Amino acid sequence: MDSASGSCSACGATGIALMKLSLGKDFFGRTYDRLSPSTDQNPQWYCESCSVQKNLQRDFRDITAEIDKLGAGQGSHLSAPDEFQRAGLRLREIIALLDAAEKRSSLLASDEVKRLLERLNIMTIPV
Ligand SMILES: [Zn+2]
Repeated sequence: MDSASGSCSACGATGIALMKLSLGKDFFGRTYDRLSPSTDQNPQWYCESCSVQKNLQRDFRDITAEIDKLGAGQGSHLSAPDEFQRAGLRLREIIALLDAAEKRSSLLASDEVKRLLERLNIMTIPV
């Protein structure tokens, strides 16, 4: 770790342990292209609590994109009943984690996630 002089990309905290967020696979198991070390031009470093929130934000974005596709009648990972259910559970979990966080997240507001969950709740899976 060579981030001793850096600051958290989200809250700007300095002088604490930072971790480079390893993005790996997204919520739907797809690989992030920008993660290959050679192509990642703009690596971001986060303190511990922000890295947790960053992960929540990532799942939130992935699920939002798939809900948008489902709503538009396009092919979506959420067309599969188990993925649809998993996404709903994950959104509830994200809301619970955000509400329980000591420090209010600068990355993601639980109200945003609640609105997304409401959208998901009124959707039906095409059979
Ligand atoms: Zn931070």
